[in-house]
Amino acid sequence: MNKEKRVGLARSALLNWHASHGRHDLLWRRFTDPYAVLVSEFMLQQTTVATVTPRFAEWMQTFPTVADLASATEEEVLTAWQGLGYYSRARRLHAAAKTITECHDAIIPSESESLLALPGIGDYTAAAVLAFAYDLHALVLDTNIIRVLSRWANLDTPIDIGKGKKLLMKIAESFYPRTGCRATASALMDLGATICTSGIPQCSLCPLQQTCLADKPEHLPRKAPRVVTLKQSELRVCFYQQERLYLELSQGPRWRGLWILPELGKAHAKGYRSTPLAEVTYPITRYRITMKIFETLDKPPTHLRGFSIDELNSIPIPSPHRKAIGAVAKRLFSIHNSGESPN
Ligand code: SF4
Repeated sequence: MNKEKRVGLARSALLNWHASHGRHDLLWRRFTDPYAVLVSEFMLQQTTVATVTPRFAEWMQTFPTVADLASATEEEVLTAWQGLGYYSRARRLHAAAKTITECHDAIIPSESESLLALPGIGDYTAAAVLAFAYDLHALVLDTNIIRVLSRWANLDTPIDIGKGKKLLMKIAESFYPRTGCRATASALMDLGATICTSGIPQCSLCPLQQTCLADKPEHLPRKAPRVVTLKQSELRVCFYQQERLYLELSQGPRWRGLWILPELGKAHAKGYRSTPLAEVTYPITRYRITMKIFETLDKPPTHLRGFSIDELNSIPIPSPHRKAIGAVAKRLFSIHNSGESPN
């Protein structure tokens, strides 16, 4: 079978399958508005469909248009983003909305170059907007699609090195139609999410089975050996006084604009208990961080702000710190109820 015939057969089998087996109930698929596509693509970067679904609906009610988002404050945006993690995405989406409103008359661009010039938009998001919002030619390559295409072509080169990336682009270039990539991208994505899943795929149910070249699909796509995860620890301090928890407004690059537990060293807390009140671990890139939180009865430094328990629910706090605050609250409650004394 020649290459063109193989691609043609695969694509039509895929689209037929998708008509009756696609995930047409995904909330964002009901929106054709390019702004909604942009929001969903930002949210789905590094966050699961199950987590994004309710947050996307709330977001579209809070900021129904790109102009509404552009005119919101950073605090409003970060609060609405809570639970999705990786807050830099929220800041970039906010910045992109401002640029779109100011420089593109509040219309999401439909050319790759203009999209790539916006904050937070890389190759994948630009391609997704072109395909899903405007149904243009674009090589959409998310994790699911990469898995399907690399297996379908039996690509044995690691896809995270230069040569593998180039080969993958060639495969995608031949698979995607010249015009109108929305249906193909949605179908590949859904096939990867439901049939050609990571681990052992369900090839007997796959519409691409007749044209697929994979001999050991469970080993594909290949990746270069992983970098070892490094362990780190950080020490934080809990100033809880008169039923208020004192937090610091982060200025750092990771959590700028979010409220966090202050660092033990920077807070100059002296009278803190030597055993941590609570410990939580969380991953950041290739680090696994253990956060230890110590209680102190010192007066909180003036740059901290005290919040009641109710107020904590309505301010933006990154997930690891919210988890730590929950653990601290539980521990403080049990100490105060049992009459346990400090060390
Ligand atoms: S036949 Fe199997 S490996 Fe090939 S695309 Fe389908 S599910 Fe994936």
